[in-house]
Amino acid sequence: MLRLPSFTYRQPRSVREALDAKRDAGPHGMYVAGGTDLYPNMKRRQQEPTTVISLMGIPELRTTEGRKDGRGMMAVGAGMTLTELSVLPSVRRFYSAVSHAAEAVSTPLLRNMGTLGGNLCLDTRCNYYDQSYEWRKAIDFCMKKDGAICWVAPSSPRCWAVSSSDIAPVAVAIGAELLLVGPGGERVVPAARLYENDGINYLAKQPDEILVEVRLPAPDGWDAVYAKLRRRGSFDFPVLGVAAWVRWDGRRVAEARVVLGGVASRPQEVPEAAAALAGTTLAADAIAAAAEAAYRPAKPLDNTDFDLSWRKQMTRVYVTRALEELGRRRAG
Ligand SMILES: Cc1cc2nc3c(=O)[nH]c(=O)nc-3n(C[C@H](O)[C@H](O)[C@H](O)COP(=O)(O)OP(=O)(O)OC[C@H]3O[C@@H](n4cnc5c(N)ncnc54)[C@H](O)[C@@H]3O)c2cc1C
Ligand code: SF4
Repeated sequence: MLRLPSFTYRQPRSVREALDAKRDAGPHGMYVAGGTDLYPNMKRRQQEPTTVISLMGIPELRTTEGRKDGRGMMAVGAGMTLTELSVLPSVRRFYSAVSHAAEAVSTPLLRNMGTLGGNLCLDTRCNYYDQSYEWRKAIDFCMKKDGAICWVAPSSPRCWAVSSSDIAPVAVAIGAELLLVGPGGERVVPAARLYENDGINYLAKQPDEILVEVRLPAPDGWDAVYAKLRRRGSFDFPVLGVAAWVRWDGRRVAEARVVLGGVASRPQEVPEAAAALAGTTLAADAIAAAAEAAYRPAKPLDNTDFDLSWRKQMTRVYVTRALEELGRRRAG
């Protein structure tokens, strides 16, 4: 059995106290929410904080009622569990892609513990990294932790570990905004700007910044869906996630976004696919053009489940399914 190392556990009651705890802990302190990602990583010594600062006792992160700002956005606390998020009536009604992505995460037990913020800040994944310490030691580790080389692309100067969050591609596709609070104050960033295409430095936020809330755009004339490919439908991480968003102008697509999860170190937007949809009625030829456009830049590597060429082929299939679903909903 893998055991957690010993560590200091802090339970702040406010964002301010959490920031102070992180300042006191320095670079060896990490925030934890549900712990469904961090604790397994600590057991495998992939992440080794000596102080763990829980965010679960902070009321600002536990908003269970959406509230509207001046632009009609709905703010959801980052500390809401995935179960809470997926059953919230306002989210189910106006943001079904978000509730569907939350429901698609792993198992009920993990959704009861795992949070929205933890899902958006999830560590990137790789077959050579998500292993026990002894396993990783046997291959002399890798660049992401304790080693020097990338086993997926040995001549590469960077790590290609994969963004495997279900909600992140949806957040990017619908244009969600994130409230980050750090020692110097707060800032609001578009979800797309939270991510870097780098398996090690995959988040653009500072380590001491706390994701406090996620702001969902007003539901005014747009729709979005999420389609997920994984081996076991009741359990597994996505090896491909497709989030598709369209803003309708009558029966035509005024604007679109297609974002792929599980194919890069960040959710990957495909502007060419969006361009293929603009001005169309989402007829079969437009969907086929968008699926083809999404297929080309999708470059999965051999570091997650399934054969990589098959995963790439599946991009066409899942983009098609997602867009067909949007078309069916519009037709009514
Ligand atoms: C068996 C198994 C299957 C899984 N399957 C899936 C799946 O299918 N899809 C999927 O998306 N995920 C999956 N996960 C991963 C994980 O359970 C979820 O992503 C979950 O939502 C993570 O949330 P958490 O609150 O538990 O994160 P934690 O483990 O608490 O934190 C994860 C990371 O985010 C940081 N963090 C957390 N909250 C904040 C915040 N508010 N501000 C700043 N930083 C923060 C932590 O410091 C840590 O680095 C799976 C995990 C396991 C063990
Ligand atoms: S992509 Fe390479 S460096 Fe990154 S975790 Fe995998 S093997 Fe390690």
